[in-house]
Amino acid sequence: MDEKSDNIESGSQKTEEFLVKMGANMNEINRVKRRYPMKATRYYLSLIRGKDDPIWKQCVPDIEEIRDTLNVEDPLKEEEHTPVPYLVHKYPDRVLLLVSSKCAMYCRFCTRKRKVGRIQQIPMEDIMKAIDYIGEHPEVRDVIVSGGDPLMRTDKELETILSRLRSIPHVEIIRIGTRMPCVNPVRVTKRLASMLAKYHPVFINIHFNHPSEITKEAKEACAILSEAGIPLGNQTVLLKGVNDDPDVMKELMRELLKIRVRPYYIYQCDLVKGVEHFRTEVECGIEIMKQIQGFTSGLALPHFVIDGPGGKVPISPQYVKEITKDQIIVTNYLDQMYSYPGLNRTATKKLSNKRVNTIGIAYNLKKMPKKGERIDKYAEYDDLDTIDAIRRSFENNGYEVKLLEADVDFFEKLKSSEVDFVFNIAEGIHGESRESHIPSVLEMLNIPYSGSGVLTQAITLNKSRKKEILNYYDIPTPRFQLFRNINQKLDPTLRFPLIVKPDAEGSSVGITNDSLVFDIESLRKQVGKVLKEYDQNALAEEYLDGREFTVSLMGNGKPHILPIIEVDFSHLPENIHHFDSYEAKWVYDDPVKKMDAIMFPTDLKPRLKANIEKVARKTFQTLGIVDMCRIDIRLDQNEVPHVLDVNALPGLMPDPNSNSRFTRSAYRANMTYEDIIMTIFKAALKRYNLAMAG
Ligand SMILES: *Cc1c(COP(=O)(O)O)cnc(C)c1O
Ligand code: SF4
Repeated sequence: MDEKSDNIESGSQKTEEFLVKMGANMNEINRVKRRYPMKATRYYLSLIRGKDDPIWKQCVPDIEEIRDTLNVEDPLKEEEHTPVPYLVHKYPDRVLLLVSSKCAMYCRFCTRKRKVGRIQQIPMEDIMKAIDYIGEHPEVRDVIVSGGDPLMRTDKELETILSRLRSIPHVEIIRIGTRMPCVNPVRVTKRLASMLAKYHPVFINIHFNHPSEITKEAKEACAILSEAGIPLGNQTVLLKGVNDDPDVMKELMRELLKIRVRPYYIYQCDLVKGVEHFRTEVECGIEIMKQIQGFTSGLALPHFVIDGPGGKVPISPQYVKEITKDQIIVTNYLDQMYSYPGLNRTATKKLSNKRVNTIGIAYNLKKMPKKGERIDKYAEYDDLDTIDAIRRSFENNGYEVKLLEADVDFFEKLKSSEVDFVFNIAEGIHGESRESHIPSVLEMLNIPYSGSGVLTQAITLNKSRKKEILNYYDIPTPRFQLFRNINQKLDPTLRFPLIVKPDAEGSSVGITNDSLVFDIESLRKQVGKVLKEYDQNALAEEYLDGREFTVSLMGNGKPHILPIIEVDFSHLPENIHHFDSYEAKWVYDDPVKKMDAIMFPTDLKPRLKANIEKVARKTFQTLGIVDMCRIDIRLDQNEVPHVLDVNALPGLMPDPNSNSRFTRSAYRANMTYEDIIMTIFKAALKRYNLAMAG
C-alpha cells in the first residue's frame, strides 16, 4: 500500500490502554464490538479531551448500540434502489457508487452501520459492473463515489474507478464522499490530489461534525484538495451530545469556511438500528438553522435535511407566514414581519371597461316562520316570484344568471360561482347590520354589485342613527328618543302620542296598531315588548298627524324620482290607527279585496310636491344611497315633509297588484319589470365604469 495511514485497529494494546485510562468500560465496549466493529485512528483518538466528549462519542462503542430495539438496519431502503450491487439509484439523474466497505474509522452513528466494516472489501470487478450500469444509463450525469470511505482504496484503484467513470460521456460531475480529511488527514496527499484533478470536475464532500475536528492537520488536508481545484463541501450529522447545540454548530460552520470548506448538508440522524441514542428532535435542527440564518455568513448556512426512503427532504424554519393572492408575508431572522407583493394584485386590478356577462342574484328567500319564531320574522325576505322575475330580466338581456342564496354558505358559493356582478336584494340573516353583510363580502372579493354599500346599508337599517344623521343635516324627521332599557326616563320635551318601533327593522316589522301610545304606561309596555321580542333598542318618535307619502328614487347623481305614492288609510276599520302598522300594511292592504292602500295623488300642489322631492333627494344623497331606494315621508301640521324611514333595499315584487311600492311607482311611470331591473343594473355599471354584456 502506498497510502499513508496511522490506523490502529481496535484491540490494539495502545488503544485499549488509552480508553481504560480515560475511564472506559472495556467489558461493554467488547460486547458492542462483536456486533459493530470498532476502529479509530491514533490521530482521531488524540483529539479526545475526556470520556464521552464529542470526539469520544463518535468513535468509542456505547452499550446503547446493542440495546436499540426501535430502529431498522436500512431505513433509507437503499437495498430497494440497488439495481446492481454497490450502486444506489434513487434520484433521476444521480447515483451513489459504493466503492469501499471500509473506513479509517467506524463512526458509531453510521447510516451504513449494517455493512461498513462488517463485510469484505468490495471487489473491483463488481465496481466495474456497477460502472457499466452507469454507462448504460444516459440519464445519470452525477456520480457520488461513496462507501464506506472511497479513500480506503489505493490511489491506483481510485484512478481506475475515476478514469472509467470519466470515459462515460454523460457523466458530467464526479463527487467523492470521504471522512478522511477529518479522521485521517495524512491520507490526503498532493499525489492523490493531482490524480483526482485529472478527472475534473471532481467535488469532495467531507464529514466534519465538531469544531474540535478542525485541526492544523485537517486544514492542511483540505488545503491540498482545494489547491487541486476541488470544491469542498461538508456534510454534518446532527448528533446528541456532539453538536446538538446552535453555538457549537455555528462555530463548526464558521471554522469550515476558514479552511475553505462550504457547509452543504446537516442531516437529521437516520433511524438506523444501533443509533437511537444519537437522535435529537427535529426542532433542534430547526433551531440551529434559525441561529445560523442571518447571524453569520450565508456561506455558512447548509441545508438541514431528513433523509428517508423517498430521498432527502429539506427542513427549514417557517419564514413564510402566509401566502395570499396579493402578497407573501414573511419573517426575517429577527422574527420581524415583512410583506412582499405578488404580481396578481387584486387591489389594483382594474375593473374598468370589463365586460359583465355573468350575474349573481344574492337574495334571502321568504320562509314560513317556524314554531316559536315571530310571525313577521321573514316579512322582509323575497318570494320566489321576485327572484325569478329578476332572473328572467337578466336572461332576456343575454346574461348568464346564478342564484346565490345569501345564507351561511354564501361566501363559498360566491367564490366558486365566478360571477362578474351581483344584483343584491339580500336582507341578511342575522346581526344588527345584516343588510350590510353581503355588500361586505362582495367588496372583500372585489365583485361589483347593485345597491348601496356597507356603511349606508348599516345606517339605513338603524332608525336612530339614521335620524341623528338627518338631524345633523337639517332634514326634518320626527323628534325621538331611544330606549335602551325599560326604566329609562322619558324626555319631557317629547309630545304624546308617540310611536314605538324596534330600532333596527324594516317593512313595518314590529310596528303594530298598539305601537301608537298616548300615555307613559302604554309607552313602557310597548318599549318592553320591543326590548324583549325584538331583542333590540326601542325608538319612540312623535306621531305626525299629516298625510303620508312614499317616494321611490332610481339612478345616481341627481336620482330620478318615480311617481309619488300616497298611503291611503281610509279603508282601515275604525279601530285601526292611520299609520303604516303591520296590520295596515299586511292585513288590511289587500288589493284583491279592493283595500289597496296605494294611491297616486292627483291633488298634490306643485310647491308641496317639490318640497317632498327635495327632502327625498337630499336624504338619498346625504345617506350615500346609490342605484335605488324608497323613502317614507309624512307631513306635520304645517305640511312640512318629515322623513319617517328610508329603505335602501326596497322590495321588488313583480306583481302589479302587490304592495311593493317601489315597483308600483315604476309601473306608474310606464316602466316594465325588465326596465326596472335594467335601470338599476345600468346605474350600478356606470358607477363601476363597467360595460354591459355583448
Ligand atoms: C444523498 C444522496 C444523493 C445525492 O443527493 P444530493 O442532494 O444531490 O446531494 C444521491 N443518491 C442517494 C441515494 C443519496 O442518498
Ligand atoms: S466514515 Fe462515513 S461510511 Fe465510514 S463509518 Fe463514518 S459515517 Fe460511516
